[in-house]
Amino acid sequence: MEEQIKVLRQQMEEALAAVSSKDELAAFWQAYLGKNGSIAALMKGLGKVDKEQRPVMGKVINQFKAEAEEKYQAMREKMEAAELEAANRSEQVDITMPATRVSAGALHPLTLVKNQIVDVFAGMGFEIFEGPEIEDDDHNFTRLNVAKNHPARDMQDTFYVAEDIVLRTHTSGAQIRVMDAQQPPIKILAPGRVFRSDSDATHSPMFHQMEGLVVDKNITLCDLQGMLDKFVQAMFGEGIRTRLRPSYFPFTEPSVEVDVSCFECGGKGCGLCKGTGWIEVLGGGIVHHKVLENCGIDPNVYSGFAFGIGIERITMLKYGINNIGLLFENDLRFLKQFQE
Ligand SMILES: [Zn+2]
Repeated sequence: MEEQIKVLRQQMEEALAAVSSKDELAAFWQAYLGKNGSIAALMKGLGKVDKEQRPVMGKVINQFKAEAEEKYQAMREKMEAAELEAANRSEQVDITMPATRVSAGALHPLTLVKNQIVDVFAGMGFEIFEGPEIEDDDHNFTRLNVAKNHPARDMQDTFYVAEDIVLRTHTSGAQIRVMDAQQPPIKILAPGRVFRSDSDATHSPMFHQMEGLVVDKNITLCDLQGMLDKFVQAMFGEGIRTRLRPSYFPFTEPSVEVDVSCFECGGKGCGLCKGTGWIEVLGGGIVHHKVLENCGIDPNVYSGFAFGIGIERITMLKYGINNIGLLFENDLRFLKQFQE
């Protein structure tokens, strides 16, 4: 038996020297130290040894086992250390390398301007109301005093989704929805996307409007102008004035176009204002008594004003953008100029 152990020790040392992976090391453990391994087999063989010799041989086998375990353990530690070192090497960071720049996103210019407009009016007590983008004929036209066959329907090239269902051509439908739902006093701002079949340097088939509506007792055109003065000063600078020009919208009477004094030349006349000193920025007026009636509000008691701001128009004026297409191409070279 001693001879057998000697051979086995030789084999074990050779086997261990040949181990080069964790799997091979596990196989080594199975072969020598496992439940059915060579050393366990030696132990079982003890039964055949002479009774007097048995304790001595048992001690020798145990010693061999301890030796094998120690060698196995040492090999395992060596392999783990090598593995750790390899991992450290591969994860090494060179702190002198230049950092990768993180490219931060920013708000789109239309969002910047929309937020700014909302801030100005929120400061005056307006609440936000958002109507649906797909609107029925009733809200988009009829109850805004634009009956079927009314010539004003030709003012807007409409996308029809179905008969009597349109992609809203303006945010004015929100007026009807709000007045249906509540009695005055009303003070709302309705921002959103609107759609018209129109496309050139200053028109896009999809664009953004901001509708404003105030209904209360004794509301006049003076209230509208006073409030718009505050608005344009916040957007374009102190000292900017407004001027109202008569206009026509079916849902307001009287209707006005609102001009601001040119913020480029201060009113002397330049390319931006085409020499007039004034720039048209939005439309509005006193809510037509028929529109109030259509929503169950008594025009003899209440009056109101409404206005519609083109967000693209304001954005283009504010940043000197001459083609509306730039706002929708999402060219990063363009958009990055608005990063704050
Ligand atoms: Zn000018």
